[in-house]
Amino acid sequence: MANRRAIGAIDIGGTKIAAGIVDFNGQLMAYRETPTAANEGFAAAMDRIHAMLNDASHNADAELLGIGIGCTGPVDPRSGTIGEVEFLPGWKDRNPVQYLAEKFELRVAMENDADAAALAEAEWGAGRNKRSLICVMVGTGIGAGIILDGVLYRGAAGSHPELGHHVIDCSGPKCFCGANGCWEVLARGPAMEERMRTRMPPGGSAQSPLTAKMICELARAGDAAARREVEREGRYLGIGVANLVTLFAPEVIVLGGNVMLAADLFMPIIQATVRRNCGLVDPKATTITSTSLGSGGPLIGAAAVWRRRFEGARVS
Ligand SMILES: [Zn+2]
Repeated sequence: MANRRAIGAIDIGGTKIAAGIVDFNGQLMAYRETPTAANEGFAAAMDRIHAMLNDASHNADAELLGIGIGCTGPVDPRSGTIGEVEFLPGWKDRNPVQYLAEKFELRVAMENDADAAALAEAEWGAGRNKRSLICVMVGTGIGAGIILDGVLYRGAAGSHPELGHHVIDCSGPKCFCGANGCWEVLARGPAMEERMRTRMPPGGSAQSPLTAKMICELARAGDAAARREVEREGRYLGIGVANLVTLFAPEVIVLGGNVMLAADLFMPIIQATVRRNCGLVDPKATTITSTSLGSGGPLIGAAAVWRRRFEGARVS
């Protein structure tokens, strides 16, 4: 007999789908994952999610009160349908909320994964008991969620504001969003890799492409080119964060995602850029920090999506 009340959590990404059980203190009690294998179709993925959640809840001895989903966007959080997502070909207009609600006979809620991350920080992380928070995830792209007055901010017609695509340098490279030199195209992890590749002398020491993680390791080891690239990446991150401080003056900006696993390298540069650029607001009033939720963050975010939707915002 299951005796621990908990929330089922699903994180749908382009390469993997994770399922977990999260308790009401934001603790991850069980974890499963599977390749997304989007080409195998939506129904096959939903069957795997169903099996993973059943297995995880049994393993955690948990009674599920509901299910939250964070999904790579765009998604419609009101209807629960998936939009035109680059990494999920053929899934457009499919509805995981409806599917899982029928399978489990539970209430299900879904948000864009960046909004889910912001809700996790507001509920159980650095934004707890704060009224304004911006959460930025820096990885293969840059996604961000905004909490204002304690609730998730939505754009017109329920759209998701794309802070990751505000322009940093209009002479920069072209992004798929249409702009040149937006924050994502300059500061996402692969941008570091591309810049290092183009700066390497032909026939130089790097035989294979360097990942962002490898560049950070080389910088720590004292490699001059890698250190210059870390400095450049930190400045791009810092300009974007400074713009958010100037535009929103939020209480907290939380930075997460794979690139920010090297927060020790980037945070001093980000902080210095904010101090230099934000002369009209008090930058000390905004706490800039990296996420404390760890690798379980996306699933904790999915649980926060359900909790905020069905238990209401709980802000002091
Ligand atoms: Zn863009």
